[in-house]
Amino acid sequence: MNIGFIGIGAMGKPMAQNLLKSAEVQLYIYDVNAAAMAELAAQGATACPSPRALAAAASVIIMMLPNAAVVESTLTGEQGLLAGGTAGQTIIDMSSVAAGSTKKMAALAQARGIAYIDAPVSGGVAGAAAATLTIMVGGEAAAVQGVLPLLQRLGKKIYHVGASGAGDAMKVVNNLLLGINMAAVAEALVLGARSGLDPRVMLEIIQASSGRSYALEAKAEKFILNNNFAAGFAIDLEYKDLELAMETARSLEIPLPVGALTQQVFAMARAKGLGREDISAVIKVWEEMAGIQVRG
Ligand code: NAD
Repeated sequence: MNIGFIGIGAMGKPMAQNLLKSAEVQLYIYDVNAAAMAELAAQGATACPSPRALAAAASVIIMMLPNAAVVESTLTGEQGLLAGGTAGQTIIDMSSVAAGSTKKMAALAQARGIAYIDAPVSGGVAGAAAATLTIMVGGEAAAVQGVLPLLQRLGKKIYHVGASGAGDAMKVVNNLLLGINMAAVAEALVLGARSGLDPRVMLEIIQASSGRSYALEAKAEKFILNNNFAAGFAIDLEYKDLELAMETARSLEIPLPVGALTQQVFAMARAKGLGREDISAVIKVWEEMAGIQVRG
């Protein structure tokens, strides 16, 4: 099976490595970062000079890219995927992007006889490495069915949510909640630290109480208490997801007050130069205001 993979970043690298483990997969890769490609090429993948060249080699192509603008430029143009593609192929976009952009790209692909599926994920870098991601899929049932065995190599829970863009819409809902929960964890831990509570005791008690959440469990000990905010889910990417939630709410003409406030917290973190750090680094915004450091 010839599989293409574009975007060998924090998520894409372990996902591509999981595909490489299978003897029947020939993996073709592309990334603008030459070092990321070289690392995977040393492990058996074939590096391609452009998305177009990759499309000429692979029958199913996965994208794991930062945002919709990058996805669109990867698909279109002279060196784009669609220029090298042929009818019968399937493109799976696993990036977190706007449903509207996906619908546009799906129409362009389908005009060439290429199936296009949105399949954003949740579970973080750890879930990508363990192949336990939750995958939210949008697209035509037959095309989704055709790539199910491939998606099962990357994730554990795979949901076909609906037509093109439905997976993206679901992902926006989830990440609105993730951003809100992360900001809430940061605010609460700083309050606790200023009240003189031991951060480790706080964590243990919240984890056994009604305030617990994924944000607390995945981020408090591993990132905040370890004072290590590298290589996770970047603040810039969550800010983008909150913007997708705000755009969706605007188009539906419904208010999103807690989401709007949370997006401003992420904007503050970005203004402090924390955009590339993990989302748990939003705690630094509160730490600075409260004059205390929760992390070790
Ligand atoms: P990342 O920034 O670590 O990786 C993105 C990769 O895309 C990089 O290797 C970069 O070099 C490459 N890239 C950028 N522009 C390119 C281009 N024009 N052509 C080819 N390659 C290009 O991001 P990530 O954390 O791996 O996230 C990828 C996607 O997955 C995002 O949409 C993000 O929102 C989503 N996501 C991330 C997480 C997470 O925990 N990190 C979890 C769920 C979903």
